[in-house]
Amino acid sequence: MEKLNCFIDGAWVEGTAGKWTRDVNPADSDDVIAEATVATRDDAVRAVEAASRAYGAWRAKTAPERARILARVSELAKARIDALAAIMTREEGKTLREARGEILKGLNLIDFYVGEGWRLGGKTTPSEMPSTFTYTIRQPLGVAALITPWNFPWAIPCWKVAPALVAGNTVILKPASATPKMAVELVRLFEEAGLPPGVLNLVLGSGGTVGDALVTHKAVRAVSFTGSNDVGTKLHAVATARQARCTCEMGGKNPAVVLADADLALATEGIVQGAFGSTGQRCTATSRVVVDRRVARELTDRLVERTRALKVGNGAHPTTDIGPVVDDAQLKTVLHYIGVAKEDGAKLLQGGTRLADGSHAKGHFVAPTIFGDVTPSMRIAREEVFGPVLAILAVDSFDEAVSVANAVDYGLTSAIYASDPGAIMRFIERSEVGIVHVNSPTVGGEAQLPFGGSKATGTGWREMSEEGIHFFTEPKTVYFDYTGTKRDTNIY
Ligand code: NAP
Repeated sequence: MEKLNCFIDGAWVEGTAGKWTRDVNPADSDDVIAEATVATRDDAVRAVEAASRAYGAWRAKTAPERARILARVSELAKARIDALAAIMTREEGKTLREARGEILKGLNLIDFYVGEGWRLGGKTTPSEMPSTFTYTIRQPLGVAALITPWNFPWAIPCWKVAPALVAGNTVILKPASATPKMAVELVRLFEEAGLPPGVLNLVLGSGGTVGDALVTHKAVRAVSFTGSNDVGTKLHAVATARQARCTCEMGGKNPAVVLADADLALATEGIVQGAFGSTGQRCTATSRVVVDRRVARELTDRLVERTRALKVGNGAHPTTDIGPVVDDAQLKTVLHYIGVAKEDGAKLLQGGTRLADGSHAKGHFVAPTIFGDVTPSMRIAREEVFGPVLAILAVDSFDEAVSVANAVDYGLTSAIYASDPGAIMRFIERSEVGIVHVNSPTVGGEAQLPFGGSKATGTGWREMSEEGIHFFTEPKTVYFDYTGTKRDTNIY
């Protein structure tokens, strides 16, 4: 049985709790992938101390030197794409095709931040004073704690680790307890690429223990968190109370708005992909359809028919469309919300059950589920399920569509399916989200574009693109009088 250890100060070490947790395939409970060590608060503190010691030398390297190590990681990973994807499918459950896509997305992000290493800089502006050169440089913050969820166990660590390191910070990564192996694989690549000891540390263990130890440690100057609102909101209050920089990317309840002039075949395909891809376990998943009543019946029939044809099973099998949900707790949450929707009066149109016969017997499988007759006040229309469940709400006008789409606490992504460019532009203007998709699913995000949400989804920062660098650096402004002769300066 493979043992997964923490990586602290350049060495793979057991957590001092003296315990191990089982890393189990969500499609097959007999398939134990590995055992993961359990770190304690003391181990987390040791990781922070190692990162603090390594900071001076790492920050002193030039950004292109740091970028070269990232480039080497990318090169090593590119030779192992299929192997990494297979590990992800076995550990997280998504299909091999989805896992491969996630590995490639992580590599795009690393490659993007390699480029940022060669561009890292501030701006120059004219000064009001003669013979004075004014400019800014961006400097790292120090030690950064990165706390990540299980649903993108490779891409999210990549999109946090790469900008943090290339900007000159040192890092402690705390991955979700459900997916330790993917984090170990990523850190091994950095070790193999020649990253100096202490620059990237990994602690495995529970969020409430090691995550909290990182968030509360005064040497940790930046906390970048992706996960649930419950955890993120509390953690943000703690980190910012001690003036650490903190970003939290949290839940979503993303709508696909379908107007009467939409291409319904295109909308059907995009909604099914958005709702049930990655088993609905994406922060960007389509969880609501807000449709013009004139085309609601036709769209609903198409969605139900298309969804019925999806094959649920082990993500490792080439014919599988939808893998299992990640674990027993997530399975219970999804089934709970299916019950809540029924009690609230939504009409079950498709799915709604656990699949537990035959090849499904040893995994956490749920039939992709669609509810109709949903109203905006129902919990299924407002709360994040984080599973393969879709709610359909019918509306009578464009204004009502916008207001229903916006009537949730979250604000990550939205999509509009329509032909009229005027309506599309008005929707882009009024949709209360960080990312809008036009005639395409609510999911996805490219490395070179900002990613993140408004309202309760996020804390205002964005990730990916140059925004990732902005989070992990602060500007320093320089006034350089290159004659050194002026006595009378403009001091405001
Ligand atoms: P979660 O339970 O909040 O966990 C996220 C991370 O926080 C895990 O590493 C967890 O460790 C850790 N953690 C838990 N309690 C902590 C504490 N008290 N202090 C510090 N860290 C703590 O979320 P999840 O179930 O893994 O992920 C699903 C959620 O993530 C969904 O709400 C989804 O929408 C959101 N998400 C958002 C985005 C986005 O970009 N907006 C992207 C992906 C996912 P343990 O695993 O050990 O508990």
